[in-house]
Amino acid sequence: MFKAAVRLMLIGSLLSILGTSAFAWDEVGHKITGYVAWQRMTPEVRERVHKILMAAPEDSQIASFYMLYGARTEELRKREYFMFMTTWADVVRDRNFEMRYKNYHKGNWHYDDKFWTVKNGKIEYLPAPEDGGQALERLKTYSEMIRGRANDSQKAVAIAWIEHIIGDLHQPLHTSARVTDVEPKGDQGGNLFLLTPQGTPRANQENLHWFWDSIVVRNMPNTKNECDTEFIEPIAQKFMKKYPFEKNQSRLALGRFEDWTEESLKLAQEGVFSADLVRFQMPSDKYKKKGLTIAEERLVMAGYRMGELFNSVFGTAAATTVSPN
Ligand SMILES: [Zn+2]
Repeated sequence: MFKAAVRLMLIGSLLSILGTSAFAWDEVGHKITGYVAWQRMTPEVRERVHKILMAAPEDSQIASFYMLYGARTEELRKREYFMFMTTWADVVRDRNFEMRYKNYHKGNWHYDDKFWTVKNGKIEYLPAPEDGGQALERLKTYSEMIRGRANDSQKAVAIAWIEHIIGDLHQPLHTSARVTDVEPKGDQGGNLFLLTPQGTPRANQENLHWFWDSIVVRNMPNTKNECDTEFIEPIAQKFMKKYPFEKNQSRLALGRFEDWTEESLKLAQEGVFSADLVRFQMPSDKYKKKGLTIAEERLVMAGYRMGELFNSVFGTAAATTVSPN
């Protein structure tokens, strides 16, 4: 009862805002990155990060969210909370929480778009006609801030944003603005590329961006309505087994945030906008499966990179092996 009340107090009408706009990975996608990162983080780093989050400014409600979690063990509770924090930057979009919205919602921190078009079969880059997003800039600033002398309260907000932005930048469509005759000012990361037939009422429209944000649950729906731990853990474990840390360590490019974004952009150009994608048509099952294959790798890499970033900042030494729990 108490928890339900707190949830309402902090999250309110989150459901009403879900699915309405560019979120970048839905809740499940982001939480998978958090789960993977937590597996990489040393116990010492987990503690330090948790302690900092607890020092967050009150109006951010970052620390209050911890009240929502009452898991079997304290360790599990902290992990679930850390996973939740990957979504905080989306939670603050809720306008019903006026101060939180006003002080923390930043629409253009969720993406960093390169504008591009295809001319005579070749990719050409175009100058960004308007603000192409500040995700990279913010990630750089905040990753420096958590290494520096800022107080824990400031660092808490930085950590929450880092947890979210790393995930966002691994979603191919958060790095891409494709310019076509139909979208001369860019397609806003596929938000303007509709998959539903022409003339579909706005409320029933589906766009390419949301299709990719929710690619994991599209392939693996939570049919039993399991809670996060039950639902996400096996999925994340499966993805990690497919892309083990040791095999992918050499590709981490730690601190090279531009490289991460470049990888995503390439995937957008080659994987998302493949020849079999047709405007006003729902993608085929084959396309959906291919999307999952891409997402698995992106989510795991995002998690490894996030975990190692925190290890490098808050640990005495970067961990090479951490036993899962
Ligand atoms: Zn986002």
